[in-house]
Amino acid sequence: MNVPLLDLKAQHEPIRKDLLAAMERVLDQNNFILGREVSELEEQVAAYSGTRYAVGVSSGTDALLAALMALDLKPGDEVITTPLSFFATVGAIVRLGAVPVFVDIDPVTYNLDSSRIEAAVTPRTRAIIPVHLYGQCADMTPILQVAAAHNLAVVEDAAQAIGAEYGDGRRAGSMGTMGCFSFFPSKNLGGLGDGGMIVTNDAPLAERLRVLRVQGGKPKYYHRVLGGNFRLDTIQAAVLNVKLPYLDRWTALRQQHADLYESLFRSLNVESEFGVRLPQAVYKQNGVRHYHIYNQFVIGVPKREALREYLKAKGIGTEIYYPVPLHRQECLQSLGYKEGAYPEAERACRDLVALPIYPELNEDQQHYVAQTVREGLAQ
Ligand SMILES: *Cc1c(COP(=O)(O)O)cnc(C)c1O
Repeated sequence: MNVPLLDLKAQHEPIRKDLLAAMERVLDQNNFILGREVSELEEQVAAYSGTRYAVGVSSGTDALLAALMALDLKPGDEVITTPLSFFATVGAIVRLGAVPVFVDIDPVTYNLDSSRIEAAVTPRTRAIIPVHLYGQCADMTPILQVAAAHNLAVVEDAAQAIGAEYGDGRRAGSMGTMGCFSFFPSKNLGGLGDGGMIVTNDAPLAERLRVLRVQGGKPKYYHRVLGGNFRLDTIQAAVLNVKLPYLDRWTALRQQHADLYESLFRSLNVESEFGVRLPQAVYKQNGVRHYHIYNQFVIGVPKREALREYLKAKGIGTEIYYPVPLHRQECLQSLGYKEGAYPEAERACRDLVALPIYPELNEDQQHYVAQTVREGLAQ
């Protein structure tokens, strides 16, 4: 049996006609930059996330960069973030000349350990970037408390977490000063190319972001601030407008798959026999509803490389998010962080592996994956 890590063909096939019609409308309109489809998507995503404003941008990376530019981050300013994330989180900080200050992760959720943040605050700290990794919100209440006490901005990296909730009704992206989404094809809401969005409740910030995304020109060709080309393509917005109405259904399927994996792995005793760590959805209502949206279903395993090889030979796709913690990335070595500085993040980079969890996955495939993981662990 073949079980890829992700199967976008299966997602696109049932909505192929609608996608093509949306793209054809853009072609006929002959208007390819920003435009009506982008405004429509902005309204929809703001409503979906529970924020007042949304600003469509060119990628999740540019969402983070524009958000930090909107805060007027200066060289030497410090930004607290996690060492376990996609590179864009720290790249946005460093590209502005600011200094990333890492705080280790909580080994259960793999998100920022909120109890360690206060100790990392200095007079130069300007912002915190919590990442809602794999689709589960970081522990926002204590993070927001530290931020309020020290007058820091909070930029949520919600690239993997659109629709995730904190357990009190608040959605990923809506809790901090700004929230950043990515519409990279492999995210829960993905375009047919790059795209991103920033959500906020702050009207002046939303306005700044709109100016920053068009090179800081307002009026056009008059530049009081330095921006960039952070525009979202009309055609991507048109595609995303077709897909957004399906997002809750897709999320519910991912959550069902997570539940099934959990019960399969439990009955296969992989935790007690092989020391496997299953994902923990920590925000639940009456133990029933998940708020984790499972962009990834990630397990901790011993001898990860051997297991990946075994699964690959059996036709099962896996991936590592991420093999190198941010503080050990080669281009950041001048910051001086040593191996051992963030042991939990380092361990996660050594032993986590992502299994297939896309919405269209079927039960047979999941049984096969769980059974094969057990076989691979036992070999
Ligand atoms: C995908 C991702 C990004 C960047 O998004 P792009 O749209 O690929 O630029 C940033 N942060 C995290 C955590 C991501 O997963």
